[in-house]
Amino acid sequence: MQNVSRRNFLLSAAAASAAFGLDGPLEFFAPAFAQGATPDLVKFKVGDIEVIQMFDGVWQKPHDPGFVKNASLDDVKAALKAAGLTDEHVPIPFTVTAIRSGGNLVLFDSGTGAQVAPTAGNIVKNDIWKKAGIDPEKVTTIVITHFHPDHITGLMAKDTNAPIFPNAEIHVPAAEYKFWTSPTTTAGAAKRIQAVFPTWKNIKQYEGDKEVAPGVRAIATNGHTPGHTSYHLASGSQQLIVLGDVTNMPALFVRNPGWHAAFDTDGPLAEANRRKIFDRIVADKVTVTGYHYGMPGAGTIQKDGSGYAFVPVKV
Ligand SMILES: [Zn+2]
Repeated sequence: MQNVSRRNFLLSAAAASAAFGLDGPLEFFAPAFAQGATPDLVKFKVGDIEVIQMFDGVWQKPHDPGFVKNASLDDVKAALKAAGLTDEHVPIPFTVTAIRSGGNLVLFDSGTGAQVAPTAGNIVKNDIWKKAGIDPEKVTTIVITHFHPDHITGLMAKDTNAPIFPNAEIHVPAAEYKFWTSPTTTAGAAKRIQAVFPTWKNIKQYEGDKEVAPGVRAIATNGHTPGHTSYHLASGSQQLIVLGDVTNMPALFVRNPGWHAAFDTDGPLAEANRRKIFDRIVADKVTVTGYHYGMPGAGTIQKDGSGYAFVPVKV
């Protein structure tokens, strides 16, 4: 962990005990790196799978009392502070996951394409693709968790909507496609999706827990959006789950799995699927990546009192 600020956070005694059979609290590195020291790129292995995490930047979301439907603004600020983050705004990071496995490269979601927030879009602005050894023209497999703009805008060029990944098969959950292409859906990027996606022949809809790429299997985690989907891979005895937006920032929503973000289409369903997959992740000691977990954006989930704690991988 060289070049990383030692902004640590405490895993509570209960979680430390459950995870390691220890009595006292343990120190872990915070999920966010210090400002100015956030790496563009982090790579690590899960079994033989190489996981590549690319940092697309942060959305400095102004506070809004409706952001968490069932928690006060003071509670939100206190949770940010407790995690060592600023409480002047909600610093929502974006991290895109790619994996190399058995000679295949699979990209999960696309990043913001420098079109969503002025402090995001680093993957394009800093050509992190190149640093990661990824040529967008040569990417052949992309799988999408859901159609919120921060996850799919990087698929389309600004103004022209030209495909950024012209040679990729883009696998999307059918339920998600159906919802966002319905003329009755007007929220978010619906209009742009309706104008663009039906004209792209490389969008492949799939149903259920399909194996969308070699070894990459879909897990329905809907609620955040009607078709929100996570993805599972395994190598030897090790497992990886690309969570997408099963939760937003861990400091708020891993810690408080009962909190319902304003972005959730169906808060109670999102919470039920969150608890279900988290309990599987804890039981099976699965490594996860989360799109809004900051860098390195990957780690494990531990039980922690009435909630959970996110413990970043050491890189
Ligand atoms: Zn998101």
